Amino acid sequence: MSSRGSGLQSKKAILIICDGMGDRPQKDFGNRTPLEAAYTPHLDRLAKNGWTGLMDPVSPGTPPGSDVAHFSLFGYDPYKYYTGRGGLEAAGAGIQLAPTDVAFRCNFSTVDDNFTVSDRRAGRIKDGTADLAKALNGMRLETVRDLTVEFVQTVEHRGVLVLRGSRLSRHVSDVDPHQLGVRVLESKPLENSPEAARTTNALNEFTRRSYEVLKNHPVNIERIRVGEKPANIILARGAGTFPQITPLSRLYGVRTACIAVVALVRGICKIAGMDVIDVEGATGGLNTNFMGKAEAASEALQRYDYVLLHVKATDVAGHDGNFEAKKKAIESIDRMIGRLTQAIDLSQCYVVVTADHTTSVSVRDHSGDPVPILIFGPDVLASDVTRFCERSVAHGNLGRIRGFDITPIVMNYLGKIKKFGY
Ligand code: ZN
Ligand code: ZN
Repeated sequence: MSSRGSGLQSKKAILIICDGMGDRPQKDFGNRTPLEAAYTPHLDRLAKNGWTGLMDPVSPGTPPGSDVAHFSLFGYDPYKYYTGRGGLEAAGAGIQLAPTDVAFRCNFSTVDDNFTVSDRRAGRIKDGTADLAKALNGMRLETVRDLTVEFVQTVEHRGVLVLRGSRLSRHVSDVDPHQLGVRVLESKPLENSPEAARTTNALNEFTRRSYEVLKNHPVNIERIRVGEKPANIILARGAGTFPQITPLSRLYGVRTACIAVVALVRGICKIAGMDVIDVEGATGGLNTNFMGKAEAASEALQRYDYVLLHVKATDVAGHDGNFEAKKKAIESIDRMIGRLTQAIDLSQCYVVVTADHTTSVSVRDHSGDPVPILIFGPDVLASDVTRFCERSVAHGNLGRIRGFDITPIVMNYLGKIKKFGY
């Protein structure tokens, strides 16, 4: 990393979030975790020479969603600021929400005439969703007349529904039953308020009418003709509003950017005021372009003070229950970090490596375990642990911290935190 111009270099920091990297010891693999089994010389070197410890992404024992965990890692207390998935999804899709709007995460799905769900992803539809979305966008509702309905398709079978207007509530249940062979649910108010009742009326009518509009749409007639499942209904879930948070740039006076592919993470980053950097070949999967990410991150550190580098592959392997794939993903991350640390000036840059939660290969889902963390950089105390893994960092010098402590800890090192008191 070169200093730009003359004068004092300002310090930088990179937060590397390995999604779901934490794990539990696995009986079938010598009682080791994937991180313990992996060959990680670069991570081990950073851990030995940096602070290490355990981190509870949200609170001890609480399995966090990636959305809540990322909120926390950026320094926002999710119990205070998290307002549901839908608002984040909308932000990820580039939709601006007013504070009174309610957004939902949606799937194009397949139902029969009885509204029984046969495919929640409409045969993983890829083409034609823009036309289907157009047919729904701007729908005038009979039950709630003073609302605007906006529907936007996003990636593959996914989309976002926005109810724009006043007197709405995000405290309503999903219409998506999250399983097959059962009927579409009726959305119910989750609080006793006229706003929640009004929102469920609007959502239930939209759901019913989406079937009427979509079932005979030319895109679906063609899909049926070629033997594919029709995308004949919109199933909404995760009602949310736009979180009212102050962006990091304003909170700390830093220039921030993120390198992430997953729409949800990108959405949260945008809300936190980060610029989103694209990397060619970054997929969000096991085959992602790890080295491209390292290069993009080292470039970003020339222009930004605080960079987030997110890697999804570890979470994917965890959900698949695939120990070997997770170990391999961790080894790829290690090489990525090797490339990155070669390219930047480590006397001026902090490197933080952690996970947003544990996605254990035995649980195949997120769990409430703490995750390992290391903070390497100028003026940090060396922990002298020999490995970067769950077992080793438990003896590290950082102790056990909460997710929302990380960003303030880093900002303190960057000299961005004001004194509390006189
Ligand atoms: Zn995650
Ligand atoms: Zn996950």
